[in-house]
Amino acid sequence: MKTVVFESDLTCPSCGFTKSELMPSDSCMYYYECTSCHSLIRPKPGDCCVFCSYRSTVCPPKQNEAICCDQSNSNNDA
Ligand SMILES: [Zn+2]
Repeated sequence: MKTVVFESDLTCPSCGFTKSELMPSDSCMYYYECTSCHSLIRPKPGDCCVFCSYRSTVCPPKQNEAICCDQSNSNNDA
């Protein structure tokens, strides 16, 4: 049985500001505006959401090993 963590520290790649954010349980957050420098943060190439790129925890869909929003890519690797 897994414990899904919804809260994650998101670190802004522009200013290094770290903030605890709640992740949506069933979707990915593709854009995130830093509360410190107001940069619009986007995921790194190949990542499905900003939490996968800049967080301390993978997003809930990935914690559940559920199909995430990168489902269209996952077939290519197999
Ligand atoms: Zn920032």
